[in-house]
Amino acid sequence: MHRQAWAASGLGASAQRSPRHGGGAVRSARAGYAGGRSINFATRVVSCGAAELRPEGGGEPVRGFQVVLEDTILFPEGGGQPDDRGLIGDVPVLRVTRRGAEAVHFVRTALEPGAQVLLSLDWERRFDHMQQHSGQHLITAIADLMFGFKTTSWELGRQRSVIELDTPSMTAEQIEALERSVNEKIRERVPVTVRELAADDPEVETVRSRGLPDDHTGPVRVVSIEGIDSNMCCGTHVSNLSDLQVIKLLGTEKGKKNKTNLVFLAGNRVLKSIEQSHSTEKALTSLLKNGPGEHVEAVKRLQSSVKLLQKNNLNLLRDIAVLIARDFKSKPVQSELFVLHRKEGDSEFMNIIANEIGTEETLLFLTVGDEKEAGLFLLAGPVEAVENLGPRVAELLGGKGAGKRGRFQGKATKMSQRGEVQALLQEFISRQSPEV
Ligand SMILES: [Zn+2]
Repeated sequence: MHRQAWAASGLGASAQRSPRHGGGAVRSARAGYAGGRSINFATRVVSCGAAELRPEGGGEPVRGFQVVLEDTILFPEGGGQPDDRGLIGDVPVLRVTRRGAEAVHFVRTALEPGAQVLLSLDWERRFDHMQQHSGQHLITAIADLMFGFKTTSWELGRQRSVIELDTPSMTAEQIEALERSVNEKIRERVPVTVRELAADDPEVETVRSRGLPDDHTGPVRVVSIEGIDSNMCCGTHVSNLSDLQVIKLLGTEKGKKNKTNLVFLAGNRVLKSIEQSHSTEKALTSLLKNGPGEHVEAVKRLQSSVKLLQKNNLNLLRDIAVLIARDFKSKPVQSELFVLHRKEGDSEFMNIIANEIGTEETLLFLTVGDEKEAGLFLLAGPVEAVENLGPRVAELLGGKGAGKRGRFQGKATKMSQRGEVQALLQEFISRQSPEV
């Protein structure tokens, strides 16, 4: 998890301020909406150097370039908030990181230093991050006001976000009361403001913070939810709590020692989550042929009937194994080789047959599973014969096996080779008993 709160670090003001905050920053005056979704900003390339990017999910590093611009509207990762995405001209920005007071943009195509470029911001991603981040500030403040639970860190995840609270536990009632209270604040349309204070301003001491980064320079940035909270923060925020729409607390998970992880969704993520749940519910309704209120009961019934069927099936298999063995033994003359394949069966099924027939005089080759693909095999019979033949049988079946005392069993990948195995065993037997 990231450290939660620190301040602006001398980055261009427009990078740190939601474009919705509008006035104040000269640079953001040049920014504008395009189609309500993307935000553009004209700037100039300062430097461009070859670099590698390690993908977030691991894997081979990507070759590309690190570009520094005169100023930027793309937020570099920091304060628990992931970085923005966007385009420089038509070149996608794959990562934005902070290096001291600079934002470094990683791209796949080299850009000419000095060139005028138009930067555009992926607004959907940014607005989502704003909703989660302001949501976190609000939850953090109210959890502290209501219960004295301090936030020790937080993480803005791809699906859901987590606030680490300095408490060993939280009751369901506390979670409910907290959720009610934060949503009340959203309905009250409380303004959120951003100010920059000089580092030596006495007010800095009164603001919620867990310290500045070591390479911090310049003024301290304070994000305030009016009348509720002031927090040192470099992140991007909504300008009014009403932009959060709604906050859903999904409950708590066990955290580090004496901490509790509170999981939440804010804004559009709540709608997306409901859409997902609803489509799952619709699919279940059509599969289970009853309403959502009965889904859990229906699944429980299905599970217990499956268990019962499995038990019955096992008993039937055992009975079949015994009958197969009896049938074999009832013949007036018993052959020295017994071969059987059955699609349904397991290793117990095969061992019961071997037990019932007896392996002193008969060589048994039993298989279960798909006729042409994978399955299980058992070779049973006189100890020496099995020791000799077992590994060759496994090899022919493209499988692996092991065994002792007259049994060799394993997994087969080429069941289609059963005929070859049978020929091998037949030949073995005819060599053993030349008189037949
Ligand atoms: Zn923050």
